Amino acid sequence: MNEKKLYIETYGCQMNFSDSEIVASILRDNDYSLTADVKEANLILVNTCSIREKAEERVWKRLRELRSLKKRNPQLKIGVIGCMAERLHDKLLAPEHGVDLVAGPDAYRTLPYLVDQTAAGAQAANIQLSLEETYADIEPVRLDPSGVTAFVSIMRGCDNFCAYCVVPFTRGRERSRNPQTIVDEVKHLFEKGYRDVTLLGQNVNSYHFTEGNTSVGFPELLARVASVDPRLRVRFTTSHPKDLSDSLIKVIAAHPNICRSIHLAVQSGSNEVLRRMNRKYTREWFLDRVRSIRQHIPDCTLSTDIIAGFCGETEEDHQQTLSLMDEVRFDAAFMFRYSEREGTIAAKKYKDDVPDEVKARRLQEIIDLQHKHSLASNRADVGKIFEVLAEGFSKRSNGMLSGRNSQNKVIVFKAENVKPGDYVNVRITGCTAATLIGEQVSQ
Ligand code: SF4
Repeated sequence: MNEKKLYIETYGCQMNFSDSEIVASILRDNDYSLTADVKEANLILVNTCSIREKAEERVWKRLRELRSLKKRNPQLKIGVIGCMAERLHDKLLAPEHGVDLVAGPDAYRTLPYLVDQTAAGAQAANIQLSLEETYADIEPVRLDPSGVTAFVSIMRGCDNFCAYCVVPFTRGRERSRNPQTIVDEVKHLFEKGYRDVTLLGQNVNSYHFTEGNTSVGFPELLARVASVDPRLRVRFTTSHPKDLSDSLIKVIAAHPNICRSIHLAVQSGSNEVLRRMNRKYTREWFLDRVRSIRQHIPDCTLSTDIIAGFCGETEEDHQQTLSLMDEVRFDAAFMFRYSEREGTIAAKKYKDDVPDEVKARRLQEIIDLQHKHSLASNRADVGKIFEVLAEGFSKRSNGMLSGRNSQNKVIVFKAENVKPGDYVNVRITGCTAATLIGEQVSQ
């Protein structure tokens, strides 16, 4: 019998990357071994994202490419998993796409059964969402070759229903994982040599686990994870500003190994737009959170997400976003133009009425301003010395190592006798808007 070879391709967010590690584990327990060569595989799984139209277009294009492999290997099975499978399962199973199975984000335990169903040439599907599923008992197969950094999913789903977002429809209701299983997973990673873990959730700040008299919120979970070992760096993403409490900020301040970088998605600087986006906070609340972070953790960097051209956004609203960026001076940002998603609150309630060229111009203004702020933030670090965790060798600069500081800034540096997983003191000698450049001071 042919050896079972699995090839996984992951699109979208870190949550999807972490899910692919869980999928690899479930199928490894069913005798599948991973291959990095798509031509070698007899099962290809494409883990998909639906956050924007572009993300889905990439998958349709990829499926057209993969279909040619089927001509050469008729035994080959192709599956689409993740948010797009949840959202467009019927369309994906149309014969012209060559897809044998679809599985939504809560259906991964049934993958072995779905694959078996396709053995006789039938198609298979499971897009059932769950109120309980957290895959807490499944030890992920680590797909990041560095062996230094790892993702740990702490919760699934989202209850926020931001007007532009498909996630609550593709990933279901929020549910938090048992904290002991998270601490055990982190301990295990540390014993295996990992030195940087990122706790993952759509909105980690609303993590809340209750069982009997036990009730654990995110600040307490974060403190427990940080207490695993002071040599372990702890990060988390994504934070929703409405749930960012002072008690969480104080937990970060109290634990030096909780990294000094917070990703706080603002999306817009206009209260009217934030109201229509159903973000549940105001510009003033957001700025107050920034003030509290900078008061308690002065060396903390801030990154964010910004959407340009949301329904009904006026030029004045856009100027509000630019002025908020000037007030906060984010160190980094992910910036997109609004992409209407079918089935979302916005698609049902509002007209996508900002012309494309206006969206493009506003997005460019946001990108240009952010570039200025990121460059200024990096220039201010020249001459400073940071403790960097070496993660690997720089792809671009031969012989240079690459790693990050606690502030989540990427640093490319010259060093001797340093290997991935080592902490090394680096003096910053130069920078671009995206990267700091440095040299080893001492180990
Ligand atoms: S918080 Fe809002 S934007 Fe983030 S996943 Fe939930 S609904 Fe989507």
